[in-house]
Amino acid sequence: GKRAFIAGVADDHGYGWAIAKSLAAAGAEIIVGTWVPALNIFESSLRRGKFDESRILPDGSLMEITKVYPMDAVYDSPEDVPEDVKSNKRYSGSSKWTVKELAEAVKQDFGSIDILVHSLANGPEVTKPLLETSRNGYLAAISASSYSFVSLLKEFVPIMNPGGASISLTYIASERIIPGYGGGMSSAKAALESDTRVLAFEAGRKHKIRVNTISAGPLRSRAAKAIGF
Ligand code: NAD
Repeated sequence: GKRAFIAGVADDHGYGWAIAKSLAAAGAEIIVGTWVPALNIFESSLRRGKFDESRILPDGSLMEITKVYPMDAVYDSPEDVPEDVKSNKRYSGSSKWTVKELAEAVKQDFGSIDILVHSLANGPEVTKPLLETSRNGYLAAISASSYSFVSLLKEFVPIMNPGGASISLTYIASERIIPGYGGGMSSAKAALESDTRVLAFEAGRKHKIRVNTISAGPLRSRAAKAIGF
């Protein structure tokens, strides 16, 4: 069977969860990465059976998540983490959640994976029009929503089996005006799409790993609700 790592699952409403279910139904082993600040609530909800109804697969069995890893895709290694984040209670309660450490932990636990799913994005100023977006807000959107994929792929490629596949989720706002999708999020998705072509070339040639992105339709996930979609 295949083993899939899905980055960006923190509840049962988003694309990450739905993709995990499809992969589980197809027989894949599921491991997930959850944003550190959302980890406790996700793990306790999972344990307490809050997601059991959403875990039901077409054959009637329940999706198993073999392991949940804490992660924060805006930090590549411990040196990148600022003091205030390090000392933040939610972060200090977990360890090894930078991208490099995450890939090392997955390697240690499982050896390799076949499928990498990037289902995460964040734009602190998403509700502001691009014309009113600060430099910091713009760069934060790109860091969390675009470079996070480059970083994940970079660190996971060495533990991906040849013939493996990676996928991310993009949005039509990269090519057409979608008012409300601001803060540099439209720019971040345009970067993600361009990077998909370049990374497909590089990772395909060098490692026989496929790289694709799906432009998903609107879904009332937690992230979408936060911007009033
Ligand atoms: P979601 O809230 O289920 O998923 C986003 C996840 O990203 C959350 O679990 C959040 O905890 C995580 N996250 C945020 N910052 C992070 C960080 N720094 N490190 C690690 N994780 C972080 O919402 P969703 O809408 O399912 O989003 C999944 C993907 O789908 C995103 O790339 C989003 O842009 C894309 N998408 C969504 C829609 C839509 O309408 N919902 C449409 C097209 C594309």
